[in-house]
Amino acid sequence: MTAAQLLLRYQALVDRERALRESLAATEARLESDPAIVEREDTLASARAKQDEVAGRLRESDKVREDHRSRLRSRQKELMSGRIRNPTELIQMSDEVAHMKARFVEEEEAQLRIMEDAEAADESVRSATKELEDATRTSTEEEPGLRTQLAEWNMELADVITEKDAIWAQVPPRDQALFSRIRVRPPIARVNGTQCAACHVTVTSSGMQILRKGDALVQCENCGRILAAS
Ligand SMILES: [Zn+2]
Repeated sequence: MTAAQLLLRYQALVDRERALRESLAATEARLESDPAIVEREDTLASARAKQDEVAGRLRESDKVREDHRSRLRSRQKELMSGRIRNPTELIQMSDEVAHMKARFVEEEEAQLRIMEDAEAADESVRSATKELEDATRTSTEEEPGLRTQLAEWNMELADVITEKDAIWAQVPPRDQALFSRIRVRPPIARVNGTQCAACHVTVTSSGMQILRKGDALVQCENCGRILAAS
């Protein structure tokens, strides 16, 4: 193999190593914490918070209604007792009782609406709980497959690194130095016909000649990449 071909192979192994490391990191993160579970835990937590909030409103509303009910009863008692003789006072009190009754009816209706909210909140908690259970089950079922995949990738990674180092060792030191100096990524490109496959600029005829002989590295005059004959 020419130095350019060795470097092309080397670059392919570098790319594969990076892809493997990314896949390994993503899968390890997934095994550490499954985003599907985290999302459903958040949904369940919000549903529970809503349930608590509605329960608080229901307790408050119960208290207020109980309070109003006992006041209404004591007023009604007073009205029926016959102690109040003054007609104006009687009319006033009977108006007050009528008003309290009307308010009590409104409060009952409001109470019914809060109870509906409470039912809806309970249902949200039930369904969020079920979704979380499903996600946890799926996640657990996926785990052995992911662990097998991790083991396979780790084995491939070890092979890739071994081959990469072996290829690099075959590249003459001055070509290694040139390759390492190039900042553009990837630092090597094939030649398609007479064009640099990375930037599509035509390679000079002298460049093509050296490339065909294969005894020295040629760089693209435009992008600076090392060129490899196809
Ligand atoms: Zn180029």
